[in-house]
Amino acid sequence: MKRNPSPALQALLAKTTELVDAVVAPMAGEVDREARWPAHSMQAFARAGLTGLQVPQRLGGHGQGLLALATLTEAIARVCPSSALCFGMHCVGTAVIAAKATPLQEERYLRPIAQGRHLTTLALSESGTGAHFYLPETNLTAAGDRYLVNGTKQFITNGSHADSYVLSTRASSPDAEAGDFSCLIVDADTPRTEWLAQWDGFGMRGNSSRGLRLDDAPVPITHLLGEDGDQVWYVFEVVAPYFLMAMAGTYLGVAQSALDAAGEHLRNRRYAHSGAALRDVEVLQTRYAGMWTAVEKTRALIYEAAARGDAADPHALPFILACKADAGDTAVQLANDAMTICGGAAYRDNSRVAQMLRDARASHVMSPTTDLLKLWTGRSLLGLPLL
Ligand SMILES: Cc1cc2nc3c(=O)[nH]c(=O)nc-3n(C[C@H](O)[C@H](O)[C@H](O)COP(=O)(O)OP(=O)(O)OC[C@H]3O[C@@H](n4cnc5c(N)ncnc54)[C@H](O)[C@@H]3O)c2cc1C
Repeated sequence: MKRNPSPALQALLAKTTELVDAVVAPMAGEVDREARWPAHSMQAFARAGLTGLQVPQRLGGHGQGLLALATLTEAIARVCPSSALCFGMHCVGTAVIAAKATPLQEERYLRPIAQGRHLTTLALSESGTGAHFYLPETNLTAAGDRYLVNGTKQFITNGSHADSYVLSTRASSPDAEAGDFSCLIVDADTPRTEWLAQWDGFGMRGNSSRGLRLDDAPVPITHLLGEDGDQVWYVFEVVAPYFLMAMAGTYLGVAQSALDAAGEHLRNRRYAHSGAALRDVEVLQTRYAGMWTAVEKTRALIYEAAARGDAADPHALPFILACKADAGDTAVQLANDAMTICGGAAYRDNSRVAQMLRDARASHVMSPTTDLLKLWTGRSLLGLPLL
């Protein structure tokens, strides 16, 4: 598989890194402390055209795929994981819209996204079905030229800040079974929608992952994505690969920043009584080597998965399923190791390393969760249906 980034992707990465240093980094601490949605990051990405990452080139976007998504989210998450997640969920929502967009949806959503004028995001999860995000209970009823949507979504990243929400519902057909679902785009100003409590998360505190209640909310029929009941195609062909790659990149970025923090402390910490540096302690040298190896193995798996996915390799599925679970495990393990290596200073005062551990923990509960992904990876390797 070809894994080297194209010149176009290298240019996008250079632009992202520039913005991360100039705009994202100075506010990263405040985003976590104040649980502040990172408007500054999203505006900078939009102005630079980066929010059009997944929009086809013929509509003014970059037409990039999975490798670009993983690479850019990693670069952002090294400094501000919430910004990476907010950017990543916008890109996943964009990819879902782009997959089967009608000419009207292209003009209404994809062109404005490419121009940095529209932010979208994904609203799948519900408290009733929890981690089983592919079983929505929100329903829609056809009423003339619109659907009336009823239900409550939870944990919508970018909640109340996006311009539109890619929402899953049960299919409208009367003989639809549980799991037959549709995707439709709900505009932010849709009547009879209500945002629930503010996000006050343990980690990923800038996410604004909020609940949204829809009570006979009218959504034009033209906002349906694909065909009514297109569920399996959307979940496994678009939502899963893009979501998993955005998350894998984000948690790889967290793991890399934990490695960086540990290395910095090992190099700089010296004892007053002996003048010895912490990096001279053999057990810590060994621990640090293990951390570095874990990051590099995870990065190799993610790039392999992304390259296979972008090349439509028929054997890509287990790679793609495994990489978010692996990135989550690596991020939590490395943040934990960095907490040990960085000692009391990291434990005190809710340090940056402590934030890494809190942010990393989100990986295990964001669905498909780590346990579900390991199960699905095994099933796909054994030739069994995932569900
Ligand atoms: C920071 C953050 C951001 C999020 N952003 C979004 C978003 O933008 N859009 C969105 O739609 N959702 C989002 N979510 C929601 C997320 O994807 C999950 O749907 C949600 O966290 C599931 O929570 P739950 O408490 O209902 O899990 P539960 O369903 O109660 O599951 C609890 C645990 O049980 C495990 N479990 C359940 N069934 C099985 C099984 N059969 N085998 C093995 N293990 C199992 C799960 O893996 C999980 O670890 C976000 C969540 C977080 C924390």
